[in-house]
Amino acid sequence: MPDEKLNPFKIAQQQLDEAAKILGLDPGTHAALREPMRELHVSLPVRMDDGTVKVFKGFRVQYNDARGPTKGGIRFHPEETIDTVRALAAWMTWKTAVVDIPLGGGKGGIVCNPKEMSPGEIERLSRQYVRQVGRIIGLEKDVPAPDVYTTPQIMAWMMDEFYWQKGYNEPGVITGKPLALGGSKGRNDATARGGIYCVREAAKTLGLDPSKATYAIQGFGNAGQYAATLMNEVLGSKKLVAVSDSKGGVYNPEGIDAATVVKYKLETGEVKGFPGTKPITNEELLELKVDVLFPSALENVITAKNAGNIKAKIVAELANGPTTPEADEILYKNNVFVIPDFLCNAGGVTVSYFEMVQNSYNFYWELPEVHARLDGKMTKAFNDVYKMHKDRKVHMRVAAYLVAVQRVAEAMRFRGWV
Ligand code: GLU
Repeated sequence: MPDEKLNPFKIAQQQLDEAAKILGLDPGTHAALREPMRELHVSLPVRMDDGTVKVFKGFRVQYNDARGPTKGGIRFHPEETIDTVRALAAWMTWKTAVVDIPLGGGKGGIVCNPKEMSPGEIERLSRQYVRQVGRIIGLEKDVPAPDVYTTPQIMAWMMDEFYWQKGYNEPGVITGKPLALGGSKGRNDATARGGIYCVREAAKTLGLDPSKATYAIQGFGNAGQYAATLMNEVLGSKKLVAVSDSKGGVYNPEGIDAATVVKYKLETGEVKGFPGTKPITNEELLELKVDVLFPSALENVITAKNAGNIKAKIVAELANGPTTPEADEILYKNNVFVIPDFLCNAGGVTVSYFEMVQNSYNFYWELPEVHARLDGKMTKAFNDVYKMHKDRKVHMRVAAYLVAVQRVAEAMRFRGWV
């Protein structure tokens, strides 16, 4: 039996309930925000390389589109469930609101293990997904993007399938595309970069010098890898002490060269065995005494069980949903400064939004413009949340909810929905 307390959608609802109570939100608006507006469940027959047909389950959840078309990634994961997708879609709603971009929140997922599939099988699955969800997506409706185990190449196949359905190009139907197909410069590292800008702002408020900060990264996919190198490039920190992925981690208190460990991961598919380091488990990594800890993988890694042992000064959540509500209380009591997920990792969707804008204009920006605009959005969002945290004396996640929920509720009221 899965632990119901760890059901991500239950957690998302519980977080909303707390914010609704503090805001004194009217019961109708609160009830409307507790559930997705629409969802589509699909089954996807795919011809496998051995000639057999395998049927995959897929979902697309459009949580709330009061502020604009729903937006959010598609995950390919063997443990995907509808409740995970619902939670992630809810968090996308708060994410687009907290950075104040004119979009709603959505999410998609396919139950599959891409690590065990050939590129051809992944392509056919991706195209089959768009054959099914094509009817509910579009630049003005719902715009998918990459997430766990989905890539720019997968976005390209999906965009192309949509083109064959429509008979014309609509590049803004999906973001995180390769540059050759209308992707935005700076989208690849945007999630991590946005998080690094938040760390810079958090360090200012805590009186911490980020160039001297030690840091550890749990999860070494797109976000984790870029966080490793950008801490150095953007903030001047050279003290990456540990990194881990799903197969285990490596540790060196003297520091691990970020660019070299990323190269090693890309070549070998893991961080295990990286020269000059000692092995460390994911659990041990989370409890290291570092200035900044980046949970950058999946949900529920900081729980009531280990929250009391977290020694980081700043927890910068690049993953979605890494911390449970019980753990939040413990971290707050212990003065751990949490940059909550839907603020910390909002850089990805922010540059996705820039990608949609550029696709609509059919005019493309240079990298410095993308970075400057992203910095502006992230810094403003961080400071809106930080001010709420100070004014209302609540922890940073509740503060982020208060900012975001108010904005979505206001849009729903002006539309006359509530
Ligand atoms: N999947 C990313 C997220 O969770 C990006 C979503 C997007 O770019 O639409 O924020």
